[in-house]
Amino acid sequence: MVKDFEAKLSEYAHLLVEVGLNVRPGQTPSIESHIEYAALTRLCVAACFDCGARNVAPYYGDDFTTRESFLRADAAVFEEYPSYMKARIDWYLEHKCPRLSFTGSNPELLKGVDPARIQARRKASSGPTKPYFDAMMANRFQWCVGAHPTPAWAEKVFPGKKGEEAVDALWDAIFSVCRITGDGKAVERWRQVVDTIARRAKILNDYQFASLHYANSLGTDLKVRLPDGHVWAGATAHTTDGVEYLPNIPTEEIFTSPRWDGVDGRVYSTLPLAMDGNLIRDFYFDFKDGRIVDVHAAEGEEFLRRGIELDEGARCLGEVALVPYDSPIHNTGILFYNTLFDENASCHFAFGAAYPGCVKGGEEMDGAAQKAAGLNQSMTHVDFMVGSRDLSIVGTTRDGREIPVFVNGNFAF
Ligand code: ZN
Ligand code: ZN
Repeated sequence: MVKDFEAKLSEYAHLLVEVGLNVRPGQTPSIESHIEYAALTRLCVAACFDCGARNVAPYYGDDFTTRESFLRADAAVFEEYPSYMKARIDWYLEHKCPRLSFTGSNPELLKGVDPARIQARRKASSGPTKPYFDAMMANRFQWCVGAHPTPAWAEKVFPGKKGEEAVDALWDAIFSVCRITGDGKAVERWRQVVDTIARRAKILNDYQFASLHYANSLGTDLKVRLPDGHVWAGATAHTTDGVEYLPNIPTEEIFTSPRWDGVDGRVYSTLPLAMDGNLIRDFYFDFKDGRIVDVHAAEGEEFLRRGIELDEGARCLGEVALVPYDSPIHNTGILFYNTLFDENASCHFAFGAAYPGCVKGGEEMDGAAQKAAGLNQSMTHVDFMVGSRDLSIVGTTRDGREIPVFVNGNFAF
């Protein structure tokens, strides 16, 4: 049992480093970790050297220290961003160090801390760290986010289990959706997944559909127009130096942006939506000319209404994403309460902002030009799941041909 776990953890480390980061010989990866993640981090360090890393720079945080400091340190501490920390990330940026980090830490770590301290820390760090994170978003270096269960997260996912038992169950779920079996072949399996996603994205990009029509037996009947020059993307990213990498593992989706003013009809949710700590179940939206004109939810309707009223753009869609019904995440039947996993569970839309890269040249446009091109603008971006066993999606080409995209919940090609 223990041996089996170690084999899987090692396979996971190799997957994150070889496929996620795609560490190149001579690079110096940085690993943002926690002492609780030491076992996985050490396996990742070894995997980096296996890839020919020049050196590896893990940096360990500690939840206990973080919390004690927030509660007991001198208040002035939170107004400053120490120069040694700035020097560290500046060095990473200068050397384009691939960055591995983990999601999963206790979301309630700072419960009871004076919010003024948290805000002061955020304010003090945002300026000094901005060049580094801007470079990361602009693909100047490879980066990847993996996951590591903590008891707090695991107990939320498995309310019937406590402590180690919950953590073990969450590890099993993570391994299963990352296609890790202990046979050491996850890297090969993921190269195939990436190939399949790229093949389908190319087909969709070649069709340049004018619109997609969604229908299922729940009552979904929705027409979604796509912008001129839209780009379907998925799975891989490329650095400005041309290195291919996988920012998120697992990843199943192929996505683009709808026209913010081009959505009409009704769409039913098929999985609960966790928003700001509230759960919204069994809801539908009615759209007219792109705007949500009616909402109904069996549970949590007021939270959903508040969500779409945040600003003008929150009433319109900013993402359309295709995920097969038979995806490993959906097959677990688990709500992970974590975007890395949950947004890959099913076909989804997002209300709120679109990604500028979803239209050719969109990244160079200003806000007004993006909106004119069909890209929605908003402060929010909330994914909700709409895939079902019987979902059909039919694409209509610009010359009026109808092409099946999804049949019975899965890709037609
Ligand atoms: Zn998505
Ligand atoms: Zn999204």
